[in-house]
Amino acid sequence: MCIYRPNANPQRVVAVSTPNVRKSYNCAKCPGYCCSYPIIPLNKRDIERLARYFGIGVREAKKKYTVPREDEPMTMRRKADVHFGRVCQFFDTEKRNCTIYEARPLACRGYPEVAHCGYYEFLKFERRLQEDKALVATTNGT
Ligand code: SF4
Ligand code: SF4
Repeated sequence: MCIYRPNANPQRVVAVSTPNVRKSYNCAKCPGYCCSYPIIPLNKRDIERLARYFGIGVREAKKKYTVPREDEPMTMRRKADVHFGRVCQFFDTEKRNCTIYEARPLACRGYPEVAHCGYYEFLKFERRLQEDKALVATTNGT
């Protein structure tokens, strides 16, 4: 689903290119770990795309959907989530998917860049270990 890569700062994701790789993960079966990154940056084009998608002005979209964090002038606003504490505002916390898929920002379009998603491997491992196919594995005991 999403397309970002953790860099030196694990709080942050960065946009990357999207090579053609055969995926070994299934976002449809994942509770959306990558949508819980605290910093999901947006660029000018992302805001324009969001504005078009919602039929509002660019300035309004920026104000409504973004907030500055650390050194990023525009990052996704977030909301509460029972599993991860906070997730992207556009994440459906019941269905566990993106509600603006066609309009998602660049940062969400290449992750995890490679054929494997570490989060998905972790999820599969924990579900197997706990013998619970619906488990939403976390590292904080929630
Ligand atoms: S964490 Fe990985 S498997 Fe889960 S939604 Fe994101 S990219 Fe897909
Ligand atoms: S825009 Fe969609 S894909 Fe990107 S973080 Fe938000 S919910 Fe996830």
